[in-house]
Amino acid sequence: MPPVRRAYATNLGRMRTIPGAWRRAAAGAGLLSADGTGSPTIFAEMSALAAQTGAINLGQGFPDSDGPPEVLEAAREAIASGVNQYPPGRGDVSLREAITEHQHRWYGLMTDPDTDVLVTAGATEALAAVLLGLVSGPEDEVVLFEPYYDSYAACVALSGATLRTVPLRWPDFQPDLDALADAVTDATRIILVNDPHNPTGAVFSAEARAEIVRLAQKHDALIVTDEVYEHLVLDGSRHVPIATLPDAAERTLSISSGGKTFRTTGWKVGWVTGPADLVDAVLAVKQFLTYSGGAPFQPAMAAGLRLGDDYFTGLAEEMRTARDELGAGLRAAGMTVSTPAATYFTVADAGDVGATDAGEFCRALPERVGVVAIPMTAFVRPGERADVRTLVRFAACKRLPVIREAAARLSRL
Ligand code: PMP
Ligand code: GLN
Repeated sequence: MPPVRRAYATNLGRMRTIPGAWRRAAAGAGLLSADGTGSPTIFAEMSALAAQTGAINLGQGFPDSDGPPEVLEAAREAIASGVNQYPPGRGDVSLREAITEHQHRWYGLMTDPDTDVLVTAGATEALAAVLLGLVSGPEDEVVLFEPYYDSYAACVALSGATLRTVPLRWPDFQPDLDALADAVTDATRIILVNDPHNPTGAVFSAEARAEIVRLAQKHDALIVTDEVYEHLVLDGSRHVPIATLPDAAERTLSISSGGKTFRTTGWKVGWVTGPADLVDAVLAVKQFLTYSGGAPFQPAMAAGLRLGDDYFTGLAEEMRTARDELGAGLRAAGMTVSTPAATYFTVADAGDVGATDAGEFCRALPERVGVVAIPMTAFVRPGERADVRTLVRFAACKRLPVIREAAARLSRL
């Protein structure tokens, strides 16, 4: 047996002397400290804390139960029948057809599976390939709604674009439309929209969506939408993709993935749909990131996308119950709590229970009550947005008894 060596991955401090684009990614995501060392993402940090303390993990959003048996079985069957080599660069044909059918069934969108659909390694790769593929340099601006999902600012930084932000403010987290009109100019290359929104759980208003399209047209910008929570709209209404708005489709790339919808976050099957020339530009980069991957999971995702409507509405109902139980626990603790319209996420103000800093609060929470959560400060530019200083995101994507136990623990805060 060779001697056991220290793990490198946990020792990011060694990277301080290493030049390279990693610094841009780390700095973009607020993970580069003053001494030049990088840190893991907030999700990695908080899941490690949960593992170490045995606390209930309402931090990183991943379910603790399996997805639909038909989908799991389709993956097993694919492996058993030899679907184990590189899938086509654009993705398995049956999956591209299923994505096309899904976009039509739910939203009335017409896409051609041969030209307008690209399968990716999760929404994460789609976002990276879109930004790297469609940005030319610092003269291009990318508009983000802040707080934003962590990979957005990292990939904007990697792409070399200039970042512009539009605030979403507690408690309704709707975009400030005046700030949006100021942020979008002729320099804007992409307006990157995440609707339904992580980390706030907000669904953008019809007015906000229309304004995004109006401004993109006025300034000839592209719209990129991240819709991974499309089937987690909790009030029974149907998600409205921006691509369905009048004149929007021609300038919009829509991104989604099966991770949330089919409780398979570890499978990493995502997709981009939109006009063929834009999809080609994304493919030109994507083919050198992974080329392709997840062969047996692609037909399984196709089976998932073809499930009956009941599956999708049932998922949203379950998540609504979990949201309500979690919200009740947080309110019982004396916190002001958002009522998210969609997603796994509920935001609470820890300032109401004496916190002055959400990061400190979250790092102490496992010891105090045995629950892990994520500070909202991880989703904004470092040091900006004092208004989110005490806000905390809780993810309710666990089985109901686990949510109830977490709610009971939190209510004792
Ligand atoms: N976008 C948002 C808003 C997300 O919340 C997530 C993951 N939770 C992703 C993208 C990444 O999706 P995937 O796991 O399919 O890469
Ligand atoms: N999307 C998940 C969340 O917001 C985290 C995914 C990740 O760890 N990168 O909780």
